[in-house]
Amino acid sequence: MNRIDPKLAATLRQPAELVDCGLAPASDLVDLQRVAARYAIAVTPDVAALIDPEDPNDPIARQFIPSALELAHEAGELADPIGDDVHSPVAGIVHRYPDRVLFKLVHVCAVYCRFCFRREMVGPGKATALSDTAYRDALTYIRQHPDIWEVILTGGDPLMLSPRRLAEIMADIAAIDHVKIIRLHTRVPVVAPARVNGEMVAALKVQDATTWIAVHANHPRELTPQARTACALLVDAGIPLVSQSVLLRGVNDDASTLEALMRAFVECRIKPYYLHNGDLAPGTAHLRTTIAQGQELMRDLRGRVSGLCQPDYVLDIPGGHGKAPIGPIYLSHPNSGGGELSSEMRYRIVDYCGDVHLYPPKP
Ligand code: SF4
Repeated sequence: MNRIDPKLAATLRQPAELVDCGLAPASDLVDLQRVAARYAIAVTPDVAALIDPEDPNDPIARQFIPSALELAHEAGELADPIGDDVHSPVAGIVHRYPDRVLFKLVHVCAVYCRFCFRREMVGPGKATALSDTAYRDALTYIRQHPDIWEVILTGGDPLMLSPRRLAEIMADIAAIDHVKIIRLHTRVPVVAPARVNGEMVAALKVQDATTWIAVHANHPRELTPQARTACALLVDAGIPLVSQSVLLRGVNDDASTLEALMRAFVECRIKPYYLHNGDLAPGTAHLRTTIAQGQELMRDLRGRVSGLCQPDYVLDIPGGHGKAPIGPIYLSHPNSGGGELSSEMRYRIVDYCGDVHLYPPKP
């Protein structure tokens, strides 16, 4: 059984606590209790300290403080928006692509993001943690599939496990010969940075496999001095970091915020990796942007920062069909329906200012 580290005291979990701390208006209490009956709430002390209670549009609050708008569900929203279940051969494993699996060890997180794509699965009272038998069956599945090169620990947040348990799990996975990469997706270095200590870092390093960590943050203010210290501990230990962010209305859907976020990642030695279009998770329509807005922001970003600061703008195709980059596209040609270009035709290529140039095909 995977046990959660008990050291997360003082995290706010009840609407009444949010009201008492001035993080939600008392007039919203009844609605927020209805939200809490369906979706988990957790706001760590580090996150609570980042919120400006005087700002009704605070971008940190929008990510973590529940809203009555979550009670409105739009057509097309799905309990399993990225289609994990159809690719789950055994409990805890999602095998969507031949060379990698997701391994969902825990179903709890340090915080509960209001836009979470797994909000129907994560949190107390949702799915239970993997039993010892299910854990062993999942390892057996990985062992029996030699094409699996990369194991991605996600969930839930794998850094909610105690360092001792995490070290055991990392060693179990690394002992499988064909697994060369163990990647962990986590929000902990940002929302509970004190958990990233020497013991945790030691647990993450293993013989015989390379550890990568994807750090989730959506607004530059999340990269506090404490978060930066936590990330530095990981990088200094030789663990490469990449970022993942979600494009969120009222949080980071303007070019200057995205620019500041990507610069902050790179300053922390975190390579920008994914900017996710918001998934069709229930009750999240108020936080989603349009794809056209996302593409426009990516165009803006290209004009503002170097390639080092560019994430891929991606969408998880509903139904479990995987991720696809969704632009924008900079190159087009007259035969856009396909086929070879004749020598007098030209590619049209757009530069970072939006100006169009012609480029000859190879004769
Ligand atoms: S940390 Fe990840 S899995 Fe947990 S609530 Fe946030 S988005 Fe969902």
